[in-house]
Amino acid sequence: MLPYGRQSIDSSDIEAVARALRSDWLTTGPEVTAFEADLAAWTGGTACVAVANGTAALHTAYAALGVGRGDQVVTSPITFVATASTAVALGATVVFADVDPATANLDPEAAASALTARTKVIAAVDYAGHPAEYDELTKIAEGAGLSLVADAAHSIGSRYRDRPVGSLADVTTFSFFPTKNLTTAEGGAVAVRDAGVLIAARRFRTHGLVRENDQLRARDEGGWYHEVQEFGLNYRLPDVLAALGRSQLRRLGAFKARRTHLAARYDELLADVAGLGLPVRRDRVDPMWHFYPVRVRDGRRREVYERLRAAGIGAQVNFIPAYWHPAFADLGYRRGMCPVAEAFYAEELSLPLYPDLADADQDRVVEALREILR
Ligand SMILES: *Cc1c(COP(=O)(O)O)cnc(C)c1O
Repeated sequence: MLPYGRQSIDSSDIEAVARALRSDWLTTGPEVTAFEADLAAWTGGTACVAVANGTAALHTAYAALGVGRGDQVVTSPITFVATASTAVALGATVVFADVDPATANLDPEAAASALTARTKVIAAVDYAGHPAEYDELTKIAEGAGLSLVADAAHSIGSRYRDRPVGSLADVTTFSFFPTKNLTTAEGGAVAVRDAGVLIAARRFRTHGLVRENDQLRARDEGGWYHEVQEFGLNYRLPDVLAALGRSQLRRLGAFKARRTHLAARYDELLADVAGLGLPVRRDRVDPMWHFYPVRVRDGRRREVYERLRAAGIGAQVNFIPAYWHPAFADLGYRRGMCPVAEAFYAEELSLPLYPDLADADQDRVVEALREILR
């Protein structure tokens, strides 16, 4: 089965991990510090905190921004459930705002209409690697005195008005799951603009521990002494995985070139297929496409999905509207809330896209689709 996404691991990655395994550190140590510095080269210099996975990154982002009970987080339903569930975990209420029908990214007007006096954060999602509308979203967030979070699980390596993802929001979160643009097996990071929020994120990652002598409430207890002033979790990334991440970052430019080539090939080879809509790219955006989201018209999405699978092509659907999950339904969220998102979901199909996808395999995907939609 051709997967819709998969990692690319070469001998340089394997050697990097082997070196880390032979070193003095297994968990968070010098490789993590170096990985965070290397990552910042991709975020326009925005400081990064490596964490255990992309879900932990979102949880850390919201916690560091002070999201808690009584607060509201406005986000898109066309995302992996973690964008919303981590806000719920902090006691906040998630308000889903509808999406732009072309890109499936959070519609700035819908987000603005969803704001209340209790809104603390707007969380945009760079769907399929295409950055959201950061100019408009920044204006809305600044105007209302809120924080803007970018869930960039799909979009490291993408640019918006020639600025890199990671520099576009107050806090940007990344995932390094194997299907994503680069991998550490499990891993993630937050990129944080504000110095105080950065300290809060670092603390939340490590149990909320405070060790700096001048920050302690009780001084002169002894060299061993540390305090938990606010609760955190263990969201550390191991050095073994950070070493893989550093090696993958060295390959990220090549990954982008390959993904860009494959996306352009799909654009060209699928342009004349009736009943198929191709992804829209805004002029101001230079995306690192994470998957290739097509729209299957005429109510045939399920048929196309099943026939591709039968042909050994692992197409995927991204995403089930987050509030359709029973955990949200049980909180009173109802289908129909975000009609544009639901219409997008009804047609969406993600075609295989990853650096090691051969042109010949891509041709097979194209031929199968042509055959089904003939
Ligand atoms: C993958 C993903 C996450 C979660 O990342 P994990 O590393 O799997 O925890 C969050 N948001 C989006 C949009 C994702 O695709």
